[in-house]
Amino acid sequence: MRIWQPFTQMQTASAPLKVRSASGAMLILEDGSHVLDCIASWWTNVHGHSHPAIAEAIYKQALSLEHVMLAGFTHEPIERLTACLETMLPKHLTSIFYSDNGSTAIETGMKMALQYWHNLRQPEKCRFLAFQGGYHGDTVGAMSVAERSVFTKPFEPVLFATPLVPFAETWEGDGDVQTKEAAALAWLDSYLDQNGRHIAAMLLEPLVQGASGMRMCRPEFLRAVHAKLAEHGILVIYDEVMTGFGRTGALLACQKAGTQPDILCLAKGLSGGALPLAATVTTEAIFQAFCDEDVSKALLHGHTYTGNPIVCAAALASCQMLCENPAYEKLESWHRDLAALLPHDKIERLRFCGGICAFNYKTEEATYGSGLSLDLKREFLSRGFLIRPIGSCIYLSPSYCISKDELRSAYLAIAQVLEQPQLATTGSSSLL
Ligand SMILES: *Cc1c(COP(=O)(O)O)cnc(C)c1O
Repeated sequence: MRIWQPFTQMQTASAPLKVRSASGAMLILEDGSHVLDCIASWWTNVHGHSHPAIAEAIYKQALSLEHVMLAGFTHEPIERLTACLETMLPKHLTSIFYSDNGSTAIETGMKMALQYWHNLRQPEKCRFLAFQGGYHGDTVGAMSVAERSVFTKPFEPVLFATPLVPFAETWEGDGDVQTKEAAALAWLDSYLDQNGRHIAAMLLEPLVQGASGMRMCRPEFLRAVHAKLAEHGILVIYDEVMTGFGRTGALLACQKAGTQPDILCLAKGLSGGALPLAATVTTEAIFQAFCDEDVSKALLHGHTYTGNPIVCAAALASCQMLCENPAYEKLESWHRDLAALLPHDKIERLRFCGGICAFNYKTEEATYGSGLSLDLKREFLSRGFLIRPIGSCIYLSPSYCISKDELRSAYLAIAQVLEQPQLATTGSSSLL
């Protein structure tokens, strides 16, 4: 039986690397060679791989209660995790719905928003807004509220249309940011004046759009978008699947931005990167709109492994460590120091947000899976670094346990690769 890899053209892909074990930010391959995981295994890993406290929590929990369905039941791991999250999340969010991955957290949030208006007898509020360049997962609903791309093309006939608000992307030394923000806000104003009454909610990745290439915006921009949506009574759904749990230098991007979403979606770092777990968190007003004698007003939605005790125990261990040691806070200043090692004539749009440093390699070619990004990935791997460019965007977003020396070695490897004269002429061989 073949193992079909995610996001991969299987015909041209090189054989996958076999990982024997992992510790800290380091992957150890079958042949004993080491690969430094500079992207936290798709932005999930928080404290380092195979962390003993998380491993122990998983083992202990598995010995006493491995799983029970959540409808009609509860258990200590989910109650303790929820109490811990209550101390971490904004106070205006009072109800938490668990699921198992980012896409399900988003689908749950979208259904909550739609049914909220349905229950309030305002069924005309049934459409969504999202940002240009947004990504919210790979299920049909999540694809519908994102920028269309090579990823979504075959499914276009079944996706519903979502108007996309311009995203005022910015970077270090960007002199045009205010102009871009004003243009985006003007677009939003005129769109909402015409269509605001039909919009249930806007979905957005706050501060950093991950999958479209670590595109960043200013907190001021988010606050201005919120104000406009509030004028039209539109709910705001934050997709913090990537930005949550310290990735932006604060526990959550909404806290860093000083904004209050109505619905907050979490996944990736929630379990520390050990096991799949997601959550959709919302306000008292939204929760109350589902409470009634009538079962049809309830959120009739769920996922089989919702609230799995082993996963909750792992997440509790991770969240406790994150509260005790906010190791994510130091990363941005490390990135800013080390970025001096990069060949600045070869890169543009250098940007930082907490644990994320990103920039674009100066090239015409920018498509995901293009020859260039595959070549770059291969070059980094051959030097022992897991760095996975998105188009021409090269970024680092490591586990918070990484040492400054390890991080420095990644910057030096990038500098070495970008200085190779043949790089600019490779690529363009294949798309995906
Ligand atoms: C990864 C990601 C998702 C999807 O999460 P999955 O667990 O892969 O389904 C959704 N939104 C954002 C911002 C993500 O980074």
